[in-house]
Amino acid sequence: MSDFSFISDVPEKKNIGENVLYDIAIIGAGPGGLTAAIYAGRSKLNTIVLEKVSAGGRIAVSDWVENYPGFPDGISGQELVLRFKKQAERFVGKIILNEVLSIRKKNNLFYLNTEKGEIKAKSIILSTGSEPVKLPVPEEERFRGKGISYCATCDAAFFKDKTVCVIGGGDTALHEAVYLSKFAKKVILVYRRSKFRAAKILQEELLANSKLELKLSYILVSVLGSKRVEGIEIEHVETHQREILSVDGIFCAIGENPNSTLVKNLVELTESGFVKTDKNKETSLKGLFAVGDVTDAPLRQVVTACADGAIAAVNAEKYIKDLER
Ligand code: NAP
Repeated sequence: MSDFSFISDVPEKKNIGENVLYDIAIIGAGPGGLTAAIYAGRSKLNTIVLEKVSAGGRIAVSDWVENYPGFPDGISGQELVLRFKKQAERFVGKIILNEVLSIRKKNNLFYLNTEKGEIKAKSIILSTGSEPVKLPVPEEERFRGKGISYCATCDAAFFKDKTVCVIGGGDTALHEAVYLSKFAKKVILVYRRSKFRAAKILQEELLANSKLELKLSYILVSVLGSKRVEGIEIEHVETHQREILSVDGIFCAIGENPNSTLVKNLVELTESGFVKTDKNKETSLKGLFAVGDVTDAPLRQVVTACADGAIAAVNAEKYIKDLER
C-alpha cells in the first residue's frame, strides 16, 4: 500500500464513533481540511477527519506546485499532500475513509449519517472541494475517457507525440497546456476571449512555448470521431466562421463546480452553489464552517485553503467554548 492509502485504526464496523462526541468533524482531507486538523489537534480538540476517496483533493493530481511558500524549487502536488497528511495525522490520528451521506443539527449537536454509521460532533468544518465543469457539448459522455480528459497530470502520457487541445483560458487551462507540451507534439489552446485573464507568469510561459498554437475568440461546437476523439469543430465568436481541427485528445479546463450538495439545504449558497462564509469561515448555520474550494472565496489556491482551515479551526474552538458557557 502506498502512503496515500488509509490504514485506519478505527475498526471496520458499523456505528463508528457511536459513543463518542467529537468537538470537530472535518469533512474532506484537502489542504483546507488537513490544516484545520493540524490546528484543531494542536488545540487538543477531539477531532475526526473523514474523507470519501483519498487525501489531498485536486492538488494531489497537480504535477508541480510553485506558489506554496517554503519550497523555493517547487514541490509535486502529491508530495505536498503527503506532508500535509502526515502532519495532520500526528495531531489527530488517522484520517478515516468514510463517506458522509447527510448532516442534521439538533439541540446544538451535529449528526453525520455516514457509510459506517452515525457520528456526533459539536461543530463541522466542511472541506469538500470542487470538481471540474464538464465539457458543454452533447458528445461529452460518449467520448469521456476516450479522448476527453479533465486531468493533464493523469492522462498526458497517453498523448505522447499526438495533437491535443485544451479548452479554457484560466490558470488551470494554461498550466495544463504547458504541461501537455512535454508529451504531445502539438497543443492547441481554444479560448472564448481574445485576451487571457490567467496569471501573467503562466501567459508568458505559454507564449514562449513553440509547441503551442492559440485559437483565441473561439468556442468548441462539437467533438468529432467514431470510437475515440478524432477532431473538434470550433466557431469564431464574432465572424461565426467554423473550423475543423484534427486532435487526438481534448483537455477540458473551464472551471469548477463546488461539492456542496451535502449542505445545500442547511446553509446559504451562491447562485453557482459555492458555500457562503463570513470572515471566520462560518456558514449561515452556526457551528458549521467551510473552507477552500467549496466556498465562495475570491482566490482558490492551496495557500488560501490552508489559511481558511486555520481560521475555521480557531473559530470552531471559540464556538465550542461559547456553547459550553
Ligand atoms: P477559472 O479561473 O474559473 O477559469 C475557467 C476558464 O474556463 C475561464 O477562462 C473561462 O472563460 C472558461 N470557461 C468557462 N466556461 C466555459 C465554457 N462554457 N466554454 C468555454 N470556456 C469556458 O477556473 P480554473 O482555471 O480551473 O481555476 C480555478 C481556481 O484555481 C482559480 O482560483 C485559479 O487561480 C486556481 N488555479 C491556480 C493555479 C496556479 O498555478 N496558481 C493553477 C490552476 C488553478 P472566461 O475567462 O471567459 O470566463
